[in-house]
Amino acid sequence: MLYFLTGLVALLVYYLQRGGFPPASQPSLPPDDAAVYAELSQKAEFSQQTGRGFGRLEGPVGRAIDGDTIQLLDGTRIRYLAVDTPEKDAPFYRQALELNRRLTEGQRTIIFTAARHQKDAYGRVLGAVFIETGGLSGSSTNASPTVLLVNAELIRQGLAHLYLKDSNPLTEALKPVLLEAQAWAIDHQLGLFPGELKAGQAVLATRYRYHRPGCQNLKAGEGKPMDRETALRSGRSPCRTCRP
Ligand SMILES: [Zn+2]
Repeated sequence: MLYFLTGLVALLVYYLQRGGFPPASQPSLPPDDAAVYAELSQKAEFSQQTGRGFGRLEGPVGRAIDGDTIQLLDGTRIRYLAVDTPEKDAPFYRQALELNRRLTEGQRTIIFTAARHQKDAYGRVLGAVFIETGGLSGSSTNASPTVLLVNAELIRQGLAHLYLKDSNPLTEALKPVLLEAQAWAIDHQLGLFPGELKAGQAVLATRYRYHRPGCQNLKAGEGKPMDRETALRSGRSPCRTCRP
């Protein structure tokens, strides 16, 4: 119940910040971090009652391990769901790690997980990681937390790609705000999203990735030609083998 109320308050703050509730006849605004937080809070509370679906964890962060992984003080490792930051020695690896550090280390986090704390192949819990950014400490006039979705913030600052590989319900809930974050980074030509994305040879797009022509991961005739910017704006990410 508490989570539900927190969610409602977060939603209210979201609409007030956006200048009022949207008229019913118009399409609703794309979700932002607070709206996603409110939605996931409700879903996690419902899952708790039914004993399946979304999970919720919280705790202080001990350290950032790389751009898209953190370790909580209790030792639990969390891998950010649906994002990918550069590998070691690749451009922007260091910047992504620094941003992750700055945002999370020593912070209390609220983490929503898919399928009761589903883990990846390395034993890391896959999650949507939120931090509170002011509003709770000191001021009695602003008692509502403002939340930041770290998964989205890494993309928004051009230091991570949106990275999809299946369509579990948590990924689906995050996708609109992550796509919006990626569009922001492309519009502002930040980090991994330089200005010449439309130039050069067309890439070949599959459902979730895009490739250089001739990539070993493509079957003969597979892939639809498009420019990089179109591929990225549609939620595809660069293949890790051919690095287009
Ligand atoms: Zn490829």
